[in-house]
Amino acid sequence: MTNNPNGLKLTVIGCSGTYSSPDSACSAYLVQTDSTSVLLDAGPGSSIELQRHIELENLDAIVVSHEHPDHWTELPSLYHAYRWGLEDSQIPVYGTAGTRTLLDSACESATNGTFDWTTIDAASTLVIGDMSFSFTLTDHPVETLAIRVESGGASVAYSADTGPGWTPASFGMPIDVLVYETTLPISYEDREIPHVSGREAGIRAEGADVGKLVLTHIPPGHDASERMVASSAEFSGPIELAEPGRTFMP
Ligand SMILES: [Zn+2]
Ligand SMILES: [Zn+2]
Repeated sequence: MTNNPNGLKLTVIGCSGTYSSPDSACSAYLVQTDSTSVLLDAGPGSSIELQRHIELENLDAIVVSHEHPDHWTELPSLYHAYRWGLEDSQIPVYGTAGTRTLLDSACESATNGTFDWTTIDAASTLVIGDMSFSFTLTDHPVETLAIRVESGGASVAYSADTGPGWTPASFGMPIDVLVYETTLPISYEDREIPHVSGREAGIRAEGADVGKLVLTHIPPGHDASERMVASSAEFSGPIELAEPGRTFMP
């Protein structure tokens, strides 16, 4: 068990790949310590499950990985909550330049007051409360940031969306819990879709210093057990499936 003095943990808010399922919103993960709470991605539908775990006024920041709709389009809904429900509270929101452009087109004043917006890229580092954030560029058609969060020496990371050209070793640091997308069944690997299979995720996690693997971003109707079998053939550590409400700790 990793030394985790600040109580770092990651709770799955939404994990459905590409579009929402009857059982899960799209990508959203609540990362918390005893004193700080940050939402990674705000996929469609995610504010429902989010509010089962935290009051919106207690959220310290939102960090968005990239501009694809399944990762940020709950932001206009959250904008309404912070603008009208919470009287324009200035929550810090971090994301790529492309995400800001799309968000501004959806609700023009979101990044001009209610959201305290900062554009980030792969070279950015952030300190939010007792968490330190670093980023690497993934293998995806738009600028997409994998996110690593460290607090008190414990760490969690999120691959966001990526093809096989990205590896968690690109952070150059160990990762205690890695939430890794496994959008594709093995049979889709040769279709040049910019995502990875369970097999490919397992190979890359095994080649990095990863403690536990959490598989996510599996599209509705796909067989999650295929991803588990494919990953476990390659990765020697523990593997879990992301499900809304499940919490993982280093
Ligand atoms: Zn996605
Ligand atoms: Zn994407």
